[in-house]
Amino acid sequence: MIIDLRSDTVTRPTAGMKEAMFSAPVGDDVFGEDPTVNALEEKVAKLFGMEAAMFCPSGTMTNQIAIRLHTRIQTEVICHKYSHIYLYEGGGIMSNSLASVKLLEGDLGKITADQVKAAINPDDVHAPETTLVSLENTMNKGGGSIYTLDEIIPIRKICDENGLKLHLDGARLFNALAESGESPAAWGAQFDTISICLSKGLGCPVGSLLLGSKADIKRARKVRKSWGGGMRQAGFLAAAGIYALDNHVLRLTEDHARARALGEMLLKLSFVSEVFPVATNIVIARLEGISPEEFLKILAEKEIKAVKFGPDLVRFVTHLDFGDGELEEFGKRVGKI
Ligand SMILES: *Cc1c(COP(=O)(O)O)cnc(C)c1O
Repeated sequence: MIIDLRSDTVTRPTAGMKEAMFSAPVGDDVFGEDPTVNALEEKVAKLFGMEAAMFCPSGTMTNQIAIRLHTRIQTEVICHKYSHIYLYEGGGIMSNSLASVKLLEGDLGKITADQVKAAINPDDVHAPETTLVSLENTMNKGGGSIYTLDEIIPIRKICDENGLKLHLDGARLFNALAESGESPAAWGAQFDTISICLSKGLGCPVGSLLLGSKADIKRARKVRKSWGGGMRQAGFLAAAGIYALDNHVLRLTEDHARARALGEMLLKLSFVSEVFPVATNIVIARLEGISPEEFLKILAEKEIKAVKFGPDLVRFVTHLDFGDGELEEFGKRVGKI
């Protein structure tokens, strides 16, 4: 049995999800006529208390469309230097929006209102105009760390005082909310746009949603079309999302408990010097005296997959297809290293 912990994207649809997919009523979504896509978009918009939502093939697309909405040529986005939008979206801020980025430092991938305030460019001929702040929750590179609303509200205030938009890369927002107990609607109230992924912890094969005002989502649909993201009978995919929202949200805390257990197992290895605090389903281990490549090779021999996540870091992510049996098996195999 291969234990694949490279990402929470490696899951296969469950039997129940497949049944929901294949029995979905569908239509042509470019004409706005797919009832299942429409139902998913309405369901998620309502959940977050936001006016509208748009279904997209990926979280990269929803983030990049949001950035396009909130920037123009020669403007600037403020984000943490470890943000997915900056590190892992192919330089799209530049190529899709012709915008600049200001990268901030901060513990576990998080930034503060004071930092944001200090990073806003002056109204000066030398500087790109700051128009957008983008946050990530949970923070992938921060080891799945969580922002809570008391950290967001002061950032929102700085944005309002300075005419900036606030976007959330919430690829794993449901993981954060499962731990904090905060409501999706309370988060929806703080952001201009939110991107959420169905294909991570929620276990769908495909799909993300961009949430925002009616006016923003109307513009977003045009951007999506021009980037080739207009889909036709996408209700087969949206049905998986509806199923996941109904069945896979409450179970996320199980992934988090297994991630904590996994982190403890890793800490017992002599060459693991540190495990980032395990807040959700991501476990990042720092290595000493062994390279990530060497460690991954040892793991591969034991049919365990993880990924290199920095010069001395390896990442493991728990998910829907990693249950208690797999956790026990992981412990047995890693115990022999
Ligand atoms: C996975 C992920 C995304 C979106 O990725 P896609 O593979 O394009 O769906 C965005 N942000 C974060 C933090 C992610 O982990």
